[in-house]
Amino acid sequence: MVDNPASVPCFEDFGLAEKILRALNDQGYTSPTPIQQKAIPVVLQGRDVMGAAQTGTGKTAGFSLPVIQALLPMANASMSPARHPVRALILTPTRELADQVADNVRNYARYTGLRSAVVFGGVDMAVQTTALRAGVEILIATPGRLLDHVQQKTVNLSQTSILILDEADRMLDMGFLPDLQRIINLLPQKRQNLMFSATFSPEIKKLAASFLSNPVTIEVARSNATADNVSQTVYQVDEADKSEAVAHLIQSQSLKQVLVFTNTRVGASRLTRLLEKKGIRSTAIHGDKTQPERMAALEAFKKGEIDALVATDVAARGLDIVELPCVINYDLPFTAEDYVHRIGRTGRAGASGDAISLYSPKDERFLADIEKLIKRKLPRATLAGFDGKKSSSARPVERRREGGSGLTASGKRSDRSPYKSVVLERKGKHDPWFDKPYEPSLSSVVEAKEGKNPTKQPKKKVAALLGGVPKKK
Ligand code: AMP
Repeated sequence: MVDNPASVPCFEDFGLAEKILRALNDQGYTSPTPIQQKAIPVVLQGRDVMGAAQTGTGKTAGFSLPVIQALLPMANASMSPARHPVRALILTPTRELADQVADNVRNYARYTGLRSAVVFGGVDMAVQTTALRAGVEILIATPGRLLDHVQQKTVNLSQTSILILDEADRMLDMGFLPDLQRIINLLPQKRQNLMFSATFSPEIKKLAASFLSNPVTIEVARSNATADNVSQTVYQVDEADKSEAVAHLIQSQSLKQVLVFTNTRVGASRLTRLLEKKGIRSTAIHGDKTQPERMAALEAFKKGEIDALVATDVAARGLDIVELPCVINYDLPFTAEDYVHRIGRTGRAGASGDAISLYSPKDERFLADIEKLIKRKLPRATLAGFDGKKSSSARPVERRREGGSGLTASGKRSDRSPYKSVVLERKGKHDPWFDKPYEPSLSSVVEAKEGKNPTKQPKKKVAALLGGVPKKK
């Protein structure tokens, strides 16, 4: 799946242990991706890293393989928890990403004897507590739930010598900086720090400056760029026709495994209902769903049991579906960075993909922001073969956030017809359930109710708090 030129090193060249190479072989990885080629040797040297890595580049293996290699001497079969302290901590902004990273780590470390565990909210703490009490060398966590465990004294981070911040930009967006600060304060001063981010805002650079020590910057793609192997098309559509347009796109092109983004949970549910009415197997994944429901939806999607997964931005991170062919933005995201993250769900690890966005004239500003960020003009198209007005019978009641257009997209699937334009009303915010900074909670399930939190507390707060982050080493 990864296209590497002939001169590319192989995993053996990094001096990775046979136990790790065997696991990579099981995964079917034949050669390292560009981020892996750059990151693995540097991390193995013990250097701090600032990684500018897009989604789908293989960055998880890029940091976890050398970390596993570095921890190999500590692997042991002792039953004593004291012999299995947390040595590497991987922090991610969302539960889905934590779960995904944990899956990867488990696979890569399967022959090593190193233990790993994942903790995130929305599920019972008891199972996590049992795993933590038994001892794990590699812990993958979302900040809030980790702090819950810290508070309950089920985890001790005093021997954690490697810290990895994955999708650091998203963590800041979600207001996790205070939580990060608390967590960093629990770690030994002397440690290796790795930070990965898809986009690079001044806040991210400040965060990097504050806790990375003489980092090596690794970049495999232009900052804030979107993957070159993703073809991007935008269709102007009447707001009221968007849902029908999504259905039209899926049906006329026989699309399978389409990830459709909406900005609100209500919008996601509504669109899902309409798609189902049209006979398209669909499920919504957003903050009103419990964690087990969301995991089940993801599983069904991965297995091809549903054709359209309708998601709020929570799914934009950490959703790893190999060769996801198509992402549709039913709503344009409110922040341009989210566009990059959303469409990064397709075209992962060298595969090609289509990113289709629907927009109405009201969205011009968002579109302009996106184009500015990705430094690229997106081709506007009209949707052929779709008469939005016909769709009115199927239109959900609240037209304001529905719409439809058709599309033709990226070049690969070319035969589509032109569409028209209209008006779209946008308001909204992220799914606040996922945008919640730490609040101690005794029971995990409670987290599933975190609905009312403000979305972001970003920039000023970041700047203010960063001053307090101690410089390391
Ligand atoms: P990531 O960017 O870490 O989320 O990885 C994206 C996808 O690429 C995941 O499905 C990985 O399993 C896959 N992947 C990572 N490294 C390689 C590799 N060297 N060869 C093939 N696939 C890979």
